[in-house]
Amino acid sequence: MDYDVIVVGGGPAGSSCSIFLGKKGIKTLLVDKAFFPRDKACGDGVTGKSVNMIEELGVKDKIDKLPHERLMGFITSASGGVKISYMGNDKDPGYTCKRYLFDNELFQLAREKVDVIENFTVTDILMDGNKVTGIKGTGNDGKEKQFTSNIVVGADGANSIVARKLGLNSFETDKCYVSIRAYYENVDIRHDSLEIHFMDEVLPGYFWIFPVGNNVCNVGLGLVAEEIPKRKINLKSLLDEIVKSSYVADKFKDSRQVSEIKGWNLPTGAQKRKRAGDGFILIGDAASLIIPFTGEGIGNALVSGKLAANTISNAIAKNDFSYSITKEYEKSVETAMNDEFRTNQTVMNILENRMLFKSFMMEIGKKTEYLTAFSAFITAKTEKVKLPLDLLAKIAFRYLANLTGLAKDFKKTI
Ligand SMILES: Cc1cc2nc3c(=O)[nH]c(=O)nc-3n(C[C@H](O)[C@H](O)[C@H](O)COP(=O)(O)OP(=O)(O)OC[C@H]3O[C@@H](n4cnc5c(N)ncnc54)[C@H](O)[C@@H]3O)c2cc1C
Repeated sequence: MDYDVIVVGGGPAGSSCSIFLGKKGIKTLLVDKAFFPRDKACGDGVTGKSVNMIEELGVKDKIDKLPHERLMGFITSASGGVKISYMGNDKDPGYTCKRYLFDNELFQLAREKVDVIENFTVTDILMDGNKVTGIKGTGNDGKEKQFTSNIVVGADGANSIVARKLGLNSFETDKCYVSIRAYYENVDIRHDSLEIHFMDEVLPGYFWIFPVGNNVCNVGLGLVAEEIPKRKINLKSLLDEIVKSSYVADKFKDSRQVSEIKGWNLPTGAQKRKRAGDGFILIGDAASLIIPFTGEGIGNALVSGKLAANTISNAIAKNDFSYSITKEYEKSVETAMNDEFRTNQTVMNILENRMLFKSFMMEIGKKTEYLTAFSAFITAKTEKVKLPLDLLAKIAFRYLANLTGLAKDFKKTI
């Protein structure tokens, strides 16, 4: 074997995994098709548990020195007049930082700990029966090369070649998002808040304005994937229309788009995916770990990298790289993330019913306790965030009243 572990993809998931493996002294090769720093279509929101993880990885001081914004709260709205502004007193609620810069810090730290090859595009995996034994790909020189290892970690994002070759690249369009974003200069918004707007045109989904430092904002939108062909939506035109619409025109009147629009798929934890097997583990987007409602994936990418490194260390100690050991990783992901996926799925379900969602938003604005819980929820503070039960009960009652015709005029119930 050339290596104990080969990690395919040096985004947050692959870099995190490589850093933890390197710290454990495990002989690792990290490959990426890009040359870093590289861009990644994203909202650039580095919230909640991402902050804890970059601290644990030992890269927070470096990221603090990059252009970024510190977030103190959020501003949210929905068509029909719901407007909510929330400023917390949390000392470290989260950041925004361009992924071009953020990912590079993680990748460079990984480079210090493990062997790295950039500009190496993996085209296939090597198999011995049912066991993954390595990778095949093309390097900078255009020549095909192979590397073998006891475990291959697929950290190669939403279109993972590792997941595809194993037939594990599901994309259930009712459970996953498609999102796009562009950078704008001089947008008139607070620079310590995320803006998230649920206007009718983007439901089920949302439009965002995230300040990212240096008077630049990341502006984008995402929708549940199945809605896009169904409603014949052109995402780029929709983004352009919204920016020019009266809903946000005040904020954009002196602004200027300063990048092209980029987009990508968001495979979420709402869909089930096998995440490990004989000789392989999938992490981050390759494992479909994006939080369903918020669309945040960086935190779970970083966490899954750590969980994978723990299981791999155990596999090496036992000299067993079969599914009987790698399934420990699947279990640890479920324990860490399933609660969060379930709570988010509940809100996704509410989001799919426009009237119900507006009702939900109006309730949130009524009590500080609801607002605080919603803030922790949208910034993914921990995996264990719960929405208040009485809030969910009110929404469930309204849903049932509507369904059973108990409410003669559903509008009266909101
Ligand atoms: C428009 C948009 C907005 C988003 N906003 C947010 C947000 O604000 N906050 C948040 O937390 N999440 C957000 N997400 C989700 C977030 O971007 C992902 O969850 C996160 O990037 C997952 O990290 P990863 O390491 O798994 O994959 P990636 O970051 O995609 O990294 C995968 C790496 O694998 C490499 N690779 C791919 N294929 C190959 C190959 N064949 N060979 C070699 N290397 C390969 C790529 O070059 C890349 O470097 C957003 C996503 C989108 C599309």
